[in-house]
Amino acid sequence: MPVANYKQYCQMLDSAQRGHYAYPAANVTSEVTANAALWGFAQQKSDGIVQVSTGGGEFASGQGIKDSVLGAISIAEHIHRVAGRYNIYVAIHTDHCMPEKLNSFFVPLVEESERRVAAGGMPLFNSHMFDGSGIEDELDKDGKHITGSGLKKNMDLAVPLLERMSKIGQIIEVEAGVVGGEEDGAAGSDDTPSAKLYTTPKDMAYVYKRLSEVAGARYMFAATFGNVHGSYKPGVVKLQPGILRDGQARLKKDFGKDAHFDLVFHGGSGSSLEEIHETLNYGVVKMNVDTDMQYAFSRAIAGHFFTHYEGVLKIDGEVGNKKLYDPRAYLKLAETAMANRTKEACDALRSTGKTLFKA
Ligand SMILES: [Zn+2]
Repeated sequence: MPVANYKQYCQMLDSAQRGHYAYPAANVTSEVTANAALWGFAQQKSDGIVQVSTGGGEFASGQGIKDSVLGAISIAEHIHRVAGRYNIYVAIHTDHCMPEKLNSFFVPLVEESERRVAAGGMPLFNSHMFDGSGIEDELDKDGKHITGSGLKKNMDLAVPLLERMSKIGQIIEVEAGVVGGEEDGAAGSDDTPSAKLYTTPKDMAYVYKRLSEVAGARYMFAATFGNVHGSYKPGVVKLQPGILRDGQARLKKDFGKDAHFDLVFHGGSGSSLEEIHETLNYGVVKMNVDTDMQYAFSRAIAGHFFTHYEGVLKIDGEVGNKKLYDPRAYLKLAETAMANRTKEACDALRSTGKTLFKA
């Protein structure tokens, strides 16, 4: 049953936290990209996480339907079927869901899992991300920000979701602070106040306090420490992983020695190995890799088309070459390239060889 159940997923996170490694979380938008990620994890004997964004779900349902819930369900079902052939565990997750999409994406997906659990099955998804990090502070009557009111609203939305999800063995991922750059449904902007790019230890302690009040529930936290979505030239991104260290230390000080967050590193594409390894020491157990996977996939297709220009097109009355324009010809190359990029991510995050699956 290589889609992890709740207990196995918790063991994955605990093992990574203890062993200072993390799971790549690959964004997938189709059967081909899902297969690529699974294949990459399996080749490295690494457990892993695949995730679907709202845009990815919409794409997966087809342009004639554009239903993000239907597409996410379809990909997850595909993964449940094929993952059973691999000797690793995979967890199925959904990426950023903003408050305005809670009722059109997040909640219907939780309902789908509730139906399955009520019928004696497992939840379709292992975890979902609620991203309330964009909720602004309220203003007082003088127009001044009421500090912390945005974060409070964020948690006021997250806590009931967590209560509901924990009943069916699901984990929530939340975010505070803003990850820069651009991603499906999660656009930072140039005028994002730079302070918001860094979560403070005080904010982390507040999030921990609120989530830990849900008895027995499990959660992950996407702290922001200068990370940005997308891919940038060296030097543009100034990561401050020390923020994660300080936040974890604050939790121990306020809540006791066992208090810690399972942290998520968003915007992992383009980060240096050194930076990645530092975050592993501070409790990062999941790193999202989207942009680098996209590039690996597309690069392989570009190579095919540029190399076989005269075969994939019908030029000057010629007939082209069916073997070259059959979509499988280049999608297989793309699948292989994305699987290879997944393998690289396992190596970088030190999850290679650490699967908890015992055949
Ligand atoms: Zn993200």
